[in-house]
Amino acid sequence: MTTDQFSVAGQTVIVTGSSSGIGRSIVERFAEDGANVVVTSRSQENIEPVADAINDRASDESEDGEESDYGRAIAVECDVTDREAVEALREATIEAFGPVDVLVNNAGASFVADFGDISPNGWKTIVDINLHGTYHCTQVVGEGMREADGGRIINMASVAGQRGSTGMSHYGAAKAAVINFTTSLATNWAEDGIRVNCIAPGLVATEGVRSQMGIDEDEGGIDRTEADRRIGRPEEIADATQFLASPASSYLNGETITVKGVPRLDE
Ligand code: NAD
Repeated sequence: MTTDQFSVAGQTVIVTGSSSGIGRSIVERFAEDGANVVVTSRSQENIEPVADAINDRASDESEDGEESDYGRAIAVECDVTDREAVEALREATIEAFGPVDVLVNNAGASFVADFGDISPNGWKTIVDINLHGTYHCTQVVGEGMREADGGRIINMASVAGQRGSTGMSHYGAAKAAVINFTTSLATNWAEDGIRVNCIAPGLVATEGVRSQMGIDEDEGGIDRTEADRRIGRPEEIADATQFLASPASSYLNGETITVKGVPRLDE
């Protein structure tokens, strides 16, 4: 049996919001598999250590002056709601690694509040990051993919975008739009050789979840081999992302994969 079709080696990959949590796990996984990755979020001081750790690992893996198969990383500061910053991100990526093969629209944020307590500014902020950020990055980076040989775009939604969320109605609405957008775009850009898919994670133990939802589950305490779970590890989302970025998912387009553990029939 071969696992070659699951490889992302040699690909150029941008993962937005990769300073922490799921995004960080994705860049680490992709680099380990030989992809060149762009680590990006709003603050240079948070992304540099992630890129440095990847490049240190690549140097450690080099033997006798020979290049290792480990991917390289650059750190590029970019707020996904800022169109000019997204354009600069694309340019910095092409300069460092060449045309972009894979874009992972992972940057996201939320806060918990009853609907009546969400101010116009709070609503707009959450829709801006989760939906408009996906729009900017996809349009700017995707145009380059269309001019080249195509690519893969993977959007990070949420189960909140599938079923709604009592405490995060703004976030649920934005993520529902991301799921719908995935289907529209897959149809639009299939003829350009671009596959567009989406992941809807359930609860995953990350910094974001710890600060937004007050859940202090440590990912280290989560056992991947346990089927009966309602919380996942970031690398379980990285696994699904690698599948969608790789040739193994060649007949999958416009879909949303839910990654959330065991379904509960009593809800
Ligand atoms: P996290 O808070 O740990 O990481 C979010 C990342 O996005 C960080 O790097 C942050 O700096 C970045 N970011 C936020 N706003 C940004 C902006 N305007 N521009 C650029 N970067 C920005 O969160 P996480 O839990 O790892 O979540 C990653 C993605 O997965 C998000 O889209 C989130 O909505 C989604 N998700 C997470 C969970 C979960 O349980 N952790 C569940 C469902 C969906």
